[in-house]
Amino acid sequence: MDNWFTVDSIDNNTYIISEYKHWEQTHAYLLNGDKYSLLIDTGLGIENIYNEVVKLTEKPIIVVATHIHWDHIGGHKYFDDFYVHQDESKWIDGEFPLPLSLVKEYVQERCDLPKMFNIDDYQIFQGTPKKLLKDRDVIDIGGRCINVIHTPGHSPGHMCFYEKNTQYLFTGDLVYKGMLIAYFPSTDPEKYLESINKIAQLPIKKVFPAHHDLNISIKIIDDIKDAMVSIKKQGKLKHGSGVFEYNNFSIWI
Ligand SMILES: [Zn+2]
Ligand SMILES: [Zn+2]
Repeated sequence: MDNWFTVDSIDNNTYIISEYKHWEQTHAYLLNGDKYSLLIDTGLGIENIYNEVVKLTEKPIIVVATHIHWDHIGGHKYFDDFYVHQDESKWIDGEFPLPLSLVKEYVQERCDLPKMFNIDDYQIFQGTPKKLLKDRDVIDIGGRCINVIHTPGHSPGHMCFYEKNTQYLFTGDLVYKGMLIAYFPSTDPEKYLESINKIAQLPIKKVFPAHHDLNISIKIIDDIKDAMVSIKKQGKLKHGSGVFEYNNFSIWI
């Protein structure tokens, strides 16, 4: 198979659109409601995700990004309506925090790029959001309500999305199996722990991460919490402390 995207279904109205040919193994999620479809993240922007999304829905599409890092907004250019957290509105509208040259390096790193892809054409998406989101907002897509949970730490305006009815939690870069990132200057390790504590309170049936293995137990949330609490007790929950390794994840602070 030559397809750039891999599509899996979670249930009749919820899909995963994955990019396994890049080492980041990015996952976007499509939630179909009665009135709208909600696309959580748009991936790397290497191939056209819109073409995959319209195979799965005929509804108008609202796009949200868990956060404004290049690998979550790559396909925003194909959609008209997108929402971002108020604390990252500038990152998508004129002040993206990384230079294009560096992002181009990330795009090409450990990636089986499509033959027709030309890195010279790659751009970081910039545009004006239709709406700014904040903690506790609810996105009603008709028959399905998705709760916005502000979870700063990995980035200032990072959000998890939670659906009460299904108890699905879409965790973005806050929780996944792999190297968790809290060492950039724009990260905040203390807030990261607060955010983990916040989502640990929720009744969750399934965690859907933005990267790597989809076979992920909800127990990982408590494991990350315990790890960060222990790091904090050692006085190391601050930038420059290094990499801490655990069974299913590492934390780079
Ligand atoms: Zn990120
Ligand atoms: Zn990411």
